[in-house]
Amino acid sequence: MKLNITDLELKGKKVLVRVDFNVPMKDGVITNDNRIVQALPTIKYVVDNGGKAILFSHLGRVKSEEDKAKNSLAPVAKRLEELLNKPVKFIGQTRGAELEDAINNMAPGDVIMFENTRFEDLNGKKESGNDPELGKYWASLGDVFVNDAFGTAHRAHASNVGISSNISKTASGFLMKKELDFIGGAVDNPKHPFVAILGGSKVSDKIGVIENLLSKADKVLIGGGMAYTFYKALGYEIGTSICEDDKIELAKGLLEKGKDKIVLPVDNVVAKEFNNDSESKIVSSKDIPSDMMGLDIGPKTLELYNEVLKDAKTVVWNGPVGVFEMPNFAKGTKAVCELIANLKDAITVIGGGDSASAAISMGYQDKFTHISTGGGASLEYLEGKVLPGVSAITDK
Ligand code: AMP
Repeated sequence: MKLNITDLELKGKKVLVRVDFNVPMKDGVITNDNRIVQALPTIKYVVDNGGKAILFSHLGRVKSEEDKAKNSLAPVAKRLEELLNKPVKFIGQTRGAELEDAINNMAPGDVIMFENTRFEDLNGKKESGNDPELGKYWASLGDVFVNDAFGTAHRAHASNVGISSNISKTASGFLMKKELDFIGGAVDNPKHPFVAILGGSKVSDKIGVIENLLSKADKVLIGGGMAYTFYKALGYEIGTSICEDDKIELAKGLLEKGKDKIVLPVDNVVAKEFNNDSESKIVSSKDIPSDMMGLDIGPKTLELYNEVLKDAKTVVWNGPVGVFEMPNFAKGTKAVCELIANLKDAITVIGGGDSASAAISMGYQDKFTHISTGGGASLEYLEGKVLPGVSAITDK
């Protein structure tokens, strides 16, 4: 078990809080504040328990001076102030006298936030390269460390692992704990039947996840672009559908290994071009015309999915089952959301990335037990990997 924020005595303490405020921005305006909203319980807990909250995060990539202007956390501090209904003092630097003075002048319950940790990457990848001096410096600014940034837990950076290595206690925040409990719980300790749905464009991105879930789930439904590499492995005509020829042998091996577990789509929506307005039709998986490509799953596949899902007690989903960005090929992904949303008594988890944004944009935000905020981190967690940011949290 990992130490959690509720295990810490926070009163009067300088509490370093690594949040994931890597929010999408356009022209300095935040276009989706979900990650800020998700971090509020941890920040409020520090404030309500008399701690001094020192917040920091990365935002985008910082490779040049121009990137600095685009990726300042100043607008995020403003949005946080509105959501918290409380002043958030923003310090426009990642180290130095101004930051140190501001911390020394904090009263219990105060909140400050400092600048994008990746500004340090301009001085030789100090943040992303987990420079030992930087982790030590940041650790020296606080008494305890709360890591609530699940989205970066798959990376060993100075702002997570570096600080944890130089401070007496690191605890998980509420969001981190929720992610670990739901994703970890679903994969390592599932209630059966356990059904995994894996989609997305490429097999190569999901090999580890397919292998891990094949060993744990009762059924693995494969949809999306990667289904076509599996069809090719079975010798089907796939027309101009997306396919990774160098993964056909691997797909054969997975089909062999997952014989009774793997469920492939039985019909597909095919079109001539990768375009929303391209004329489309539904064909069975063995009848894909040589000049057409599969862009979504068909109605018979949805019936099959329903059959498999209806008794499920645990469902983990990663990757859309069609090109959901185009409305005409989003129906399968929406129908999968609907099937999962209607399950009674099942733990349902979306493992981040595109399927999470699809479910949220289609209005299913509150219909799942948990929608992960992590992309790469959830994928690696679903693969069964140990995430460095998580293993650096103190054991209790
Ligand atoms: P991933 O990031 O691997 O989860 O893949 C998500 C992407 O897969 C989305 O951008 C989808 O448009 C794409 N995708 C899903 N189904 C297909 C398909 N049949 N053909 C091409 N791309 C697809």
